Amino acid sequence: MRTFEYLKPTSVEDALSLLAQYGDKAKVIAGGTDVMVQWKKKLISAEYLISLRNIPALNFIDLSADLRIGSATPHRALELSPVIQQGFPAIHDAVRGLGSVQVRNSGTIGGNLCNAAPSADTAPPMLVLDTEVKISSAGGTRSVRIEEFFKGPGKTVLETGDLVTEFVVPKPASNTGMAYWKHTRRKAMDLPILGVAMLLSFDDDLKTCQKARIGLGVAAPVPLRARKAEAFLEGRIVDEAALAEAGKLAAAEASPRTTIRGSEWYRRDMIGVLVKRTGLICQQRARR
Ligand SMILES: Cc1cc2nc3c(=O)[nH]c(=O)nc-3n(C[C@H](O)[C@H](O)[C@H](O)COP(=O)(O)OP(=O)(O)OC[C@H]3O[C@@H](n4cnc5c(N)ncnc54)[C@H](O)[C@@H]3O)c2cc1C
Repeated sequence: MRTFEYLKPTSVEDALSLLAQYGDKAKVIAGGTDVMVQWKKKLISAEYLISLRNIPALNFIDLSADLRIGSATPHRALELSPVIQQGFPAIHDAVRGLGSVQVRNSGTIGGNLCNAAPSADTAPPMLVLDTEVKISSAGGTRSVRIEEFFKGPGKTVLETGDLVTEFVVPKPASNTGMAYWKHTRRKAMDLPILGVAMLLSFDDDLKTCQKARIGLGVAAPVPLRARKAEAFLEGRIVDEAALAEAGKLAAAEASPRTTIRGSEWYRRDMIGVLVKRTGLICQQRARR
């Protein structure tokens, strides 16, 4: 029988020194909703599981300046947070539809992003919010832009000994609307066939787009920014025709796969549909 030692540090410093001590024999576990499934399927092995559960410094939501979210903050805390509901509705859209209440109580935003599944629900909203990922190791700390964080399915820039400590999300400008649309076959407990997040900032007329961000999930091996579609929208009056054109451009930029949940052609078609739909929600939300 395979066994592991379960270590419960209470500070970031202790977690980092355990990670440095055990190197490749150690694995970080936050909520465990991915790790335990992978362990049972024998997709991972580790002699030491280093739990983040008892480290309060990794579990927080703070909006004193920019938004800061501790990596071990559970989805449920984000879902129930007025700061997230009111100020960052794209994150709220993502976490409220992720798994079940039980999964959201255990699973964390850091676990979702570090697991780097192309279907990770929190990835497209964090992409469109230009999030910075703070990473620490025994050797020091560094930051990477979330776009550079994902390297492939299940792969990130994290190296042995690294711990993600927090995500820093710049406060959006006024006249900004944001949304995440999770396209699934059923409402509960399903990974997305496609996930589309958008952020649109407008001039005071609330029609002319100043800044556009489009983040696509399950549309490529890594969560993707649709840059040509973003550039098309910037400086333009946002209406159904403009969003339809942006949707076509985003679909052309994507490289979706055929999987059990959906075929390549269907995903590509749906990118067009959902960019238009999500863009209209952004515009409505910017008007509030
Ligand atoms: C029934 C069920 C339904 C689900 N539904 C969804 C869904 O709808 N949408 C969705 O996106 N996901 C879903 N998931 C997947 C999973 O719940 C999420 O990915 C969750 O956010 C993982 O978080 P966690 O804290 O449990 O991560 P863990 O399982 O603890 O860790 C995941 C990975 O991240 C690493 N890690 C965690 N924290 C850190 C850190 N701070 N620094 C460095 N590495 C770290 C771990 O080593 C591991 O490799 C579902 C899972 C289950 C079991």
